[in-house]
Amino acid sequence: MNTKTIDDLELRGKKVLARVDFNVPMTDDVKIADDKRIVESLPTIRKIMDGGGIPILMSHLGRPKGGPSPEFSLKPVAEYLGTLLSTKVKFANDCIGTETKSMVDALAVGDVLMLENLRFHAEEEKNNPEFAKQLASYGDAYVNDAFGTAHRAHASTEGVTKFLKPCVAGYLMKKEIEYLAQAVGNPKRPYVAILGGAKISGKIDVIQSLLPKVDVLVIGGGMAFTFFRAQGLEVGDSLVESEKVSLAKQILEEIKSSNRRVILPIDCIIADKFENNAQRKTVPVNKMPAGWRGLDIGPETVKLIKLEVKNAKTIVWNGPMGVFEMSNFANGTLEIAKLLAEATKAGATTIVGGGDSAAAVAQMGFESSISHVSTGGGASLEFLEGKVLPGVAALDAK
Ligand code: AMP
Repeated sequence: MNTKTIDDLELRGKKVLARVDFNVPMTDDVKIADDKRIVESLPTIRKIMDGGGIPILMSHLGRPKGGPSPEFSLKPVAEYLGTLLSTKVKFANDCIGTETKSMVDALAVGDVLMLENLRFHAEEEKNNPEFAKQLASYGDAYVNDAFGTAHRAHASTEGVTKFLKPCVAGYLMKKEIEYLAQAVGNPKRPYVAILGGAKISGKIDVIQSLLPKVDVLVIGGGMAFTFFRAQGLEVGDSLVESEKVSLAKQILEEIKSSNRRVILPIDCIIADKFENNAQRKTVPVNKMPAGWRGLDIGPETVKLIKLEVKNAKTIVWNGPMGVFEMSNFANGTLEIAKLLAEATKAGATTIVGGGDSAAAVAQMGFESSISHVSTGGGASLEFLEGKVLPGVAALDAK
């Protein structure tokens, strides 16, 4: 990685402004539903503390509408972090302002400060320079460990780097970049990418970017039906993006002229309604009856994917194979999670993009059986699309 990391920082006595991604799911009674993102940033926070530095942590949580709203407060997260670190985490009720500045000035080695939700100020997402400058004024150095937000040029991820040096990556950021960069630039072969999810429109760029790089591309999920329509198949009431059918045709042509293998489902689980308890049948994809909809890949497709995954040395997976939120249509997605866990055991490098596929892996309890489960859905997708992430680009080069 040609970006400087926290290992390149002199930490002793330094106030280290660290952008973390503590945008964690919360329950209705304001408890943390999944602490993965917090836990994954602990090595960076501990490194700052163990090196004699003072972490000043900043994050967003949820989508507040540019003003304070208690349900999006980071206070419970700061308290939870305190229990993980076995220390009291101080909390600033606003991320900017004179009170916060006084709290920062009074910090001593051994302290940890967490700032209130950055998105209580619209200036954060607008990347307002004055706002960024205030944040930057708190630290002697900047660490970005918020991979999940690295695809956004916000004040705390990009703007701040114009007013504060040095700017380096934390350990979580480093791990994410290293795994994804290997998959994009230097994969061990055979290299299999498995893409699913609802719509082609969200995945076009990643399909086109990965197609020349992979040995095998597997396409599942709702977006497969737009490809089937492009092939002239009956798709019943399945999810189809009519305006993307010609694009799907074009991609199928591109696939033909490339020497890549692309696997589309050969059978699917269909339902007479979009409901978990709908009537279900398993049919070959060319025998889809009118009035039914495909909600998951079928067992023959899973077998086909298994053959590819078994031989692969690198596997990247983004997007569920079916409507996995409904238990009767979750099997295909869960089987893929299982296949990846087995492949990892057999020595393959397996990478799961964040979002729904990461949730499926967690639901199966397979997280620790995968080489890398990304904490950033949108960010990992953009990385795989070959885009430069502004939050990474803004860090100091080695
Ligand atoms: P994405 O955000 O594009 O990765 O899409 C994830 C969503 O795709 C999930 O909410 C799934 O329920 C949905 N999905 C996957 N397969 C299908 C399908 N066959 N029909 C409708 N929705 C699907």
